[in-house]
Formats: sequence, structure tokens, C-alpha cells
Amino acid sequence: MTVYAQVALLRPSRHLDRLYTYKLPFSDLKEVSIGAKVRFNFNNRLEEGFIFSLDEERNFSGEIKPILEVLPEELWLTPELVEMIKWISEYYLCSITEALTLISYPEKIYQDVEVFCTVVDEKKLNEKIKKSKRLQNDLSVINLLKNKRGVVRTTATIKKLIEQGMLQISEKPLPNLPSIELSESQKQVYQQIKRDMLKNFVGLLHGITGSGKTEIYLKLAGDFLNRGKQVLFLLPEIGITTQMVDRVKKYFPDNTLVFHSRLSAREKFTVWRQVKKGSPVLVLGTRSAAFLPLQNLGLIILDEEHELSYKQEETPKYHVREVVYWRAKRLGIPLLLGTATPSMETYAAVISGLIKYYYLGKRYQNRPYPQVMIVDMFKEAKEGNTGIISRILQHKIYERLQKGEQVFLFLNRRGFAPVIMCRKCGYFYRCPDCDVSMTYHKEERNFQCHYCGKKIAFTSKCPACQELSLDLYGYGTQRVEEELKKLFPAKIFRVDYDTMRSKNSYDKILEAIKNKEADIIIGTQMLAKGFDFPDLTLVGVLNADQSLNLPDFRAGERSFNLLTQVVGRAGRGIVPGEVIIQTFNPENYIIQAVQKGNFQQYALKELSLRKQTGYPPFSRIFRLIIAGEDEQQVVEGANILVNLLKNASKFSSEIEIIGPAAAPFYKLKRNFRYHILLKTNKSSFAREVLKAGLREFKKCSLNYKLTLVLDLSPQIFL
Ligand SMILES: [Zn+2]
Ligand SMILES: [Zn+2]
Ligand SMILES: [Zn+2]
Repeated sequence: MTVYAQVALLRPSRHLDRLYTYKLPFSDLKEVSIGAKVRFNFNNRLEEGFIFSLDEERNFSGEIKPILEVLPEELWLTPELVEMIKWISEYYLCSITEALTLISYPEKIYQDVEVFCTVVDEKKLNEKIKKSKRLQNDLSVINLLKNKRGVVRTTATIKKLIEQGMLQISEKPLPNLPSIELSESQKQVYQQIKRDMLKNFVGLLHGITGSGKTEIYLKLAGDFLNRGKQVLFLLPEIGITTQMVDRVKKYFPDNTLVFHSRLSAREKFTVWRQVKKGSPVLVLGTRSAAFLPLQNLGLIILDEEHELSYKQEETPKYHVREVVYWRAKRLGIPLLLGTATPSMETYAAVISGLIKYYYLGKRYQNRPYPQVMIVDMFKEAKEGNTGIISRILQHKIYERLQKGEQVFLFLNRRGFAPVIMCRKCGYFYRCPDCDVSMTYHKEERNFQCHYCGKKIAFTSKCPACQELSLDLYGYGTQRVEEELKKLFPAKIFRVDYDTMRSKNSYDKILEAIKNKEADIIIGTQMLAKGFDFPDLTLVGVLNADQSLNLPDFRAGERSFNLLTQVVGRAGRGIVPGEVIIQTFNPENYIIQAVQKGNFQQYALKELSLRKQTGYPPFSRIFRLIIAGEDEQQVVEGANILVNLLKNASKFSSEIEIIGPAAAPFYKLKRNFRYHILLKTNKSSFAREVLKAGLREFKKCSLNYKLTLVLDLSPQIFL
């Protein structure tokens, strides 16, 4: 009996994107399974790939070559991951090879990895250490002796001690139930979720900032680990801080694994190996951890479910929320989402009863919601203050500094001045490669494009009228820092991309703020989320309108989320917090809702606006971007594509095909950008239309230089 295998190539081939048929060189199916990594000849080259299906019948009539080698099992995918890749490729319309890039599969087996060790012969080990200076300096050996067990790397030393019978590699023990103290309201929510968490459970834990969601997650995770199950705990990139890792490890010291894209290949392999073995571990990870071969997964937690960074903006453009939905549903395990500001997608599902809802409305230790005051900046200007800091905010800063408390001023714009304009002819200085305004950076004395990074030396000469009449307008963080220095004799920290180039400086600055080395902190959104500074009592939002005015139907949602996070930074210690929001739109429903901390008020209004206009979550939008250096070609190509899509849809009323239109960022990195939107309630039909339209478009083989980007879960429409 011959068995045929369909394999997926790891390397993109110039041919069609499909699976290729090979035959197994043996008939014993025990030696392979779906997901096995194999070697074979492809176009006269030795290639590697994964087996995606096994079949006793040949479904290919040409010559079928044999598989040459089956690689060790530790390098295989699990059958579940194979299913997942197929789904990704169908759902986001990308190739299997592209989808496979999401998986951090190991290239090779590392011998020197982390294992869990227990001390077998303590006396002998103790004697040995006493005699050896080298062992006395080996921290992992000393820690093992102290704790009698622990996670260590299998270095030559450790291997030797194992051989000599002093240590032994063991299975990870089941962790004890963590002794986490819960407040009364936390306890209630925890018990409700625990009761409801049976099969096919999706829940939303909506807890206001500072309400203590993490304790509930960890308590639930403990229940699963204790039963020998695995837990996947996903956080946005910025959330995996040393603080957070320590917090989790405190409860599950032997059973916590951290996974993100910055790990080395060896470190990734260590995690890969343990989760694939089915060890009872909690994986604390960023979105790439959603693609680990977790063999014994019992619970998925997606914290900060509204976060934009859960969407990957490179192909395949997937949203991790959709991926964990799929995974939890397929495995029949519970999925718990959490946030202080639910996404409209999630909240609409709560309203329609698809997601269970749990609310934590009290801040930890009953700390009150900060007092929020709105300052009308039009009025401020009319009364003679055209600066960025209103008089009332100046006064409040002064008050707080007097008391020795900390102030955080939020401005989501780095650099010195964001607008460079000619006062004679009105010329507006834009990046020559992108259609976005350049920002003046004072310390480097240049104009910078924050999109492509282009730098042009400072000049006051207008490129249009040649007069020395370029002026700087508006405020970036650098300029605010300078103004503050004139106003207050205080220690001022600026936290933005320019001051935070290395990861190290980030941790350092957080530490320094905690230690009160700063009185006033001026920062961008890098500092808006998740941090606890107990002495921070006053928050000033310098320009609340900035994100509100973007041409994107989610601008309101993102503003509410961001402002809520910023407001949440105030008063996390004993002293109640206070917030000043400066705006030109004091009556705006988002600003009003942020002031009251009223999610419901904002969400119902936001949803009714979306319903009126038919935007998500009341429809699904697919976005196509056509870009190229020759605008004429881009426009022509886009028009051809729109017509092909309309034909493919047979002008069905189920799909609204919008465009082509110039994208709001109409030119980036010298490329002109046009987009086409497909708005639908029948997304599987729209996918078919998209596939058919693109197939026809390829057949036209236009001799144009165009790039085409597909986004089936677009979050940003710029
Ligand atoms: Zn700079
Ligand atoms: Zn640029
Ligand atoms: Zn000019």
C-alpha cells in the first residue's frame, strides 16, 4: 500500500500556491502524522515542508516523487496547527506559505535547553559544591540546592550532576492553587466566571482601570494549571513588562513560560518543546504565542482585547482576537476577554448575547474615579492664552508640585513643532515622499517625517517663494518640555519615541518615575497604558481632539479608549486623582463620556452611529490598497479592479463596493495609494467575490508596477 502526502512548502515558490503530492517511502503510518516535517526534492532542490494531509489514493496524475526524509518529531507541527494554518489562509486570503510564517516552528533541535530539575542527593551535592569554587559561583546550581528544584539550562555542569545522580530531570509539578487575596467584588466575579466556564464559553471581563482584573485571571489560571491543563495568557507587546512577568511567576514559579517575538531561537525552542509535550504551563505571551503547539490547552485569556496591536499589519494581516476565537471554539475550551474599554465588536456581541458579560466597576480598594474637568481651549484663546497649557492646568500643576506629588501631561505628538508653514505664501511643508506634514525636531535641528523617517536640515527658506519666512506652529512633546521648564523649577521627564530608543531606557525611566526622580512627566501614548505610579495625582490631557478628528470611523472608539487609559493613570495611590482635559470640542460625546467614566453612554451612542452608517460591527469591511509610483497607473489599475469585483459580485446587493478613492494617506514613501472597500454582511460570499475578482485581475496582466495589499480585518483606514 502506498500512502500519498500533501506537503506545504516552507519557502515561497514561484509557482501556484498549493500543496504538492509526494509518496511516503514506507507504509507504516506510525512514522508520520499530519504536521510532520519532511524533506523532498522540489525543482531539483532539497526542500523542507510540512505534511498537510495523508491519503491512500493518488489525486495527482503526474510523476510522484518520494519523501526523502522525515525529521525528528520535536520539529513537527501538531495537527491542530495545520488546521489553523488552513483556516488562516482561507479566512485572510493569504497563501499557506505566508500563513506558516506566523508559526515559530524550530529550525533545529537544541540540546542545551531549559528543563525542570529536582535535587535527588542533597548531601552529595552539598559536599561537591563545598569542594568546588566553580560550582560555588554557578548561580543555577546554588539556586537548585536552595530550592531543591527549579528550571535550569542543561549546561555541561548540570548534565554532569545529572549523570552523577545528584540531580534528576522531572516532569513539571502541578502548581498549587495560588493564594491570591480577592476583594469582595473580585471574588463575586471570579466565582461567577468559574461557574459559567463550561463548554463553548466566551466571556468578557469589563473592569474599569485599576479594578484588579489580573488577580481574577491568575486565580482562574491556577484552577486550570492545578488540574494539569495549559493556559494561554495573551497581552499586548507593551504589557509584557518585568513587573507583569514577576507578578505571574510569584504564583506559578515553575510553570510560567514567557513567549514573544524578541526571544532567541533557542529560547523559543524551549517553550515550543514544553508546550508540545503538554506540560501544565501558563504561557504569558504576545500575539505570536497564539500560534504555539499547545497540546493540552484548557483556557485562553486575551487581556486588553480592544488593543490595536493585536492586529498584525504585515501579511498575513490577521487579528489575534479572531484567531483565539477560532482556536477556543475548535477545542471547545473557554475564552476570556478582558479590558477597561471593550471594542465595539465585542460589546455588540455582549448585547446580542453571544458573549457573557462580567463587570468590575470598583477600583481596587475602592479608590474613587478621578475628578475630571474639561477646559474649553477656544474660550481660553479668546481670553488671551494661546499657549498649550491652560491657566487652570498651570495652577493645578503648581498645587500638586507644592504637595510633592507627581503630574503626567499627555500629548501624543513627539518632536518640537508639528506644522511648518510659510507666513508669506502659506506653503505647507510636507515630506517630499509622503503626503504628511513634517515635524521640526529641535535637538537635531531638522525636519522629520514621522512616517518614513526622512530628515531634512532645518531651514527658514520657503521652497515655494524662496523667502526666509518658514514658521513653526503647534506643539510636540519637546516644545511642551521647553515651556514647562520656563514655568516650573521642577524635574521634568519626557517619555516619547525619541527619548526611549532602547528597551533598557524604558525600564529605567519607569523605575525613576516610581522613585520620584521626576515631578512632571510629559509623554506620548507610550506611557498611557498599564502603569502604576502611586504618587501621580494629576493628569493633563493637552490636546484631546488630536485622535478624534482622524478620517476613520473608529476614531471615536480609539479616542475613548486612549483617553480612558490616560485618565486611569491618575490617583492610583492613596491620594485621589484629578484630570484636566483640554479640548476644542467640550460638547463631544466622547469627551463627555470620558469625563464621567461612563462606558455605557459612549458605547450606545457609538453603536447607534455605526448602525446608521452600516459600519462594523454591523457589517464587515474588506480593504484593498493599490499603490504605485505612477499615479495614472494606480488609478487605472484600481478602476479595472473595481469593475472586475463588481462583475464577480454580479452586482449583488449583499456587497457594497466602494471606491476606488484616494486613501487618507494618499502618498507614502513615494507611492500613491488608492483603496477599494467591500462592505458586506455575507463575508463568505464577499471572500469568493474577492478571490474571483483578483483572479481575473491577474489574467489582465497589466504592464503596470502596482502593489496590491489585502486586509480582511482592517482596523485603520488611513
Ligand atoms: Zn528628535
Ligand atoms: Zn516621509
Ligand atoms: Zn513661501
